[in-house]
Amino acid sequence: MSELAYPYEAPASQALFDRAAAVTPGGVNSPVRAFRAVGGTPRFMVSGTGPYLTDADGREYVDLVCSWGPMILGHAHPEVIAAVQEAVARGTSFGTPAEGEVALAEAMVERVAPLEQVRLVSSGTEATMSAIRLARGFTQRTKVIKFAGCYHGHVDSLLAAAGSGLATFALPDTPGVTGAQASDTIVLPYNDLDAVHAAFAAHPGEIACVITEASPGNMGVVPPLPGFNQGLKDACAANGALFVSDEVMTGFRTSRAGWFGVEGVVPDLMTFGKVMGGGFPAAAFGGRADVMAHLAPAGPVYQAGTLSGNPVATAAGLAQLRLLDDAAYTKVDAVSEQIQGLVTEALSKEGVAHTLQTASNMFSVFFTDRPVTNYDEARAQESFRFTAFFHSLLANGVYLPPSSFESWFVSTAHDERAVQRIADALPAAARAAAEATA
Ligand SMILES: *Cc1c(COP(=O)(O)O)cnc(C)c1O
Repeated sequence: MSELAYPYEAPASQALFDRAAAVTPGGVNSPVRAFRAVGGTPRFMVSGTGPYLTDADGREYVDLVCSWGPMILGHAHPEVIAAVQEAVARGTSFGTPAEGEVALAEAMVERVAPLEQVRLVSSGTEATMSAIRLARGFTQRTKVIKFAGCYHGHVDSLLAAAGSGLATFALPDTPGVTGAQASDTIVLPYNDLDAVHAAFAAHPGEIACVITEASPGNMGVVPPLPGFNQGLKDACAANGALFVSDEVMTGFRTSRAGWFGVEGVVPDLMTFGKVMGGGFPAAAFGGRADVMAHLAPAGPVYQAGTLSGNPVATAAGLAQLRLLDDAAYTKVDAVSEQIQGLVTEALSKEGVAHTLQTASNMFSVFFTDRPVTNYDEARAQESFRFTAFFHSLLANGVYLPPSSFESWFVSTAHDERAVQRIADALPAAARAAAEATA
């Protein structure tokens, strides 16, 4: 590795991580933050501004994680901060309806044509869990089809992601999920419509819904093949099941109307989170009004939340959505393309086998020369090269997601200076990837 712009050690982060490990399992409140896939000390961040994060040791990083998607305007955007300050001064939670949640729901419905009604919740997990419950309540059926490599939050029945194959009943991926919970989940290989048709044929009248990431970003970026989402929708319609499109990651990111805005396939239900919360815990599910009418108190399917539609969270989300006009997406798309080009150039120059995949401004690099269309293919990459690549970039002030199975995210705040820093750090990282051994 060439001379590092930053010392590799992170003593302040390490001290915080040691303290954290004493009071929190693994020292983190969400597993992937712990750097287990890449090794080393996770960086404890103390502040963020625009495209930069600053850690406890005072080092600045260009952020290519953006809080795993939400910070599409960069950190501490002045107008979002002002909206939050204005809201917080009026009180932080009322436990009653308030105008902010109506305004946020209206803004979402206005942007995403298939959304006739939405229900606000506090996390993407809650959104998918509730959408599945509603789909089951509406159809009076039990089984759910999901795809290997798609993540829908830590919902019990959706953690059954193992064992792709034709209509196999999944085994739970984690202790604590019972066989009964997993046995109603059918896990199929992504981008495989034949497997979907076979599953419907094998379980006539039993499948409540198909849930899929609108364009998967949780096995790295693996976009749907042309016709796949439409094929899912058609199979659902033909078999009396609901088509649930999980846009928690893609919603309001891949376009003004999320992945729906890119592809135009109309789901029955959709789920949202991340960008719509402006960095706060706000998420939602919604879709067809006749389906949503089954939700309490309008209908019998129960769902609730003490902090749902929280006034501070909705103010942040609304401020962020209002700033996300066409010009903002043009900017995010352009800077994403610019960084994609730099990454490809640096890796190609060092002869590193790689495939860069995109879904509008979401992108990720697989260390393989084959296109990746499903989870098995994603897992066939040389992840050890990513580890070397990641640590070189980190040492030189660029913060990537600490796993080769995650999307990279950029924001409107990623300017020329930030891009230049990435460009400066890439040659050494590409060399490290080239020299890495398993
Ligand atoms: C992040 C994510 C979730 C879970 O959202 P949380 O807010 O972390 O619970 C669900 N689905 C997709 C596609 C996601 O990317």
